[in-house]
Amino acid sequence: MSALTTPPRSASFIYEALPMRVVFGPGSVGRVTEELDHLGVERVLVLSTPEQVETARTIAATLGERSVGVHPGATMHVPISAADEAAALAARRGAQACLAVGGGSTTGLGKAVALRHGIPVVAVPTTYAGSEMTPIWGITENETKTTGRDRAVLPRAVVYDPELTLSLSVGLSVASGLNAVAHAVEGLWAPDRSPIVSLLAEEGIRSMVSALPRVVMDGGDLAARTDALRGAWLCGAVLGATTMSLHHQLCHILGGSHGLPHAETHAVVLPHVVAFNGPAAPDAVAATARAVGSAGLADDVAGALWDLGAALGAPTSLAALGLRADAVDDVVARVLAAPYRNPRPVEAAGLRALMMAALAGDRP
Ligand code: NAD
Repeated sequence: MSALTTPPRSASFIYEALPMRVVFGPGSVGRVTEELDHLGVERVLVLSTPEQVETARTIAATLGERSVGVHPGATMHVPISAADEAAALAARRGAQACLAVGGGSTTGLGKAVALRHGIPVVAVPTTYAGSEMTPIWGITENETKTTGRDRAVLPRAVVYDPELTLSLSVGLSVASGLNAVAHAVEGLWAPDRSPIVSLLAEEGIRSMVSALPRVVMDGGDLAARTDALRGAWLCGAVLGATTMSLHHQLCHILGGSHGLPHAETHAVVLPHVVAFNGPAAPDAVAATARAVGSAGLADDVAGALWDLGAALGAPTSLAALGLRADAVDDVVARVLAAPYRNPRPVEAAGLRALMMAALAGDRP
């Protein structure tokens, strides 16, 4: 077949919309009751981290007798003991759903309860991590995090209220926002990308990148918070619809096996993976360049992303997050043992160079 008759890869695709409702807008947390009505849920267990228990209690109070309690048992990486405890409490109290109020850790706990106890999740996200838009669950047992996809854990309704994000610190907002951008960038070069998801990805990046500098200037800027949360929704939808590649594999290894913090690790690694994959993913690079406002600099979008992170005050080196140079070989070996599908084939020398640059915090 000649080059002229070979269809571009993106000419063939499968797109499947995920079955969920999204309620968005300042003040929309007041509409959680409507969503529970819609789902026919009369008894709900409210989940949060210990740090966000007051927010969870305030929301539970608006639900009256529908709330069967607030369980502030969410913690990073969903330990199996936390999942069992929350599932047992939900069963004892006769909860018909969990209301997860918080970031990815709390949504993750709700998903674990859904998986183990079969009751749905309603999510009220307060970070930009995007877990609420995905059927991906994760549970940690014996220091190993197992993840999987199951439609049963996909929240049935998501209530996005930007006012709840006003309390997210500027540092966490930036790291979490760049975590969202990473979902969208990987969605643009995903093996199962599709035109509609690529539109979501480009617009998600644009919305987040336009919002973050304003959030840094004033964390109380509700318009900026609204744009950031809108970007997080779109980027999360991309994560839920596509298969992630090298960037997410590296971040899972760095977080799961080397204890690095989730969102900050994404922020450091992304520019380096964009530099690595760029030559093999020109359409994704062009879309990212348009979205970050450097369309004329498509050959330096990795540098533009690094500059953005640095300007926002995000960490730029893995060393600053606690990774030691002697861990690089382990990371490389783990990637190569079972590489995720990636637009550019991953080999040891290139991967090692990527890791060394990310460790040192070099501008790609
Ligand atoms: P997080 O949920 O761990 O929250 C970090 C801290 O910020 C917590 O103490 C939390 O209570 C606090 N916090 C959250 N929102 C706040 C707010 N508005 N105001 C004040 N404090 C607030 O962090 P995260 O980055 O949202 O989530 C990370 C976790 O989510 C990781 O374990 C990651 O693996 C998982 N994740 C899963 C998916 C998925 O699809 N399954 C997607 C993204 C992230």
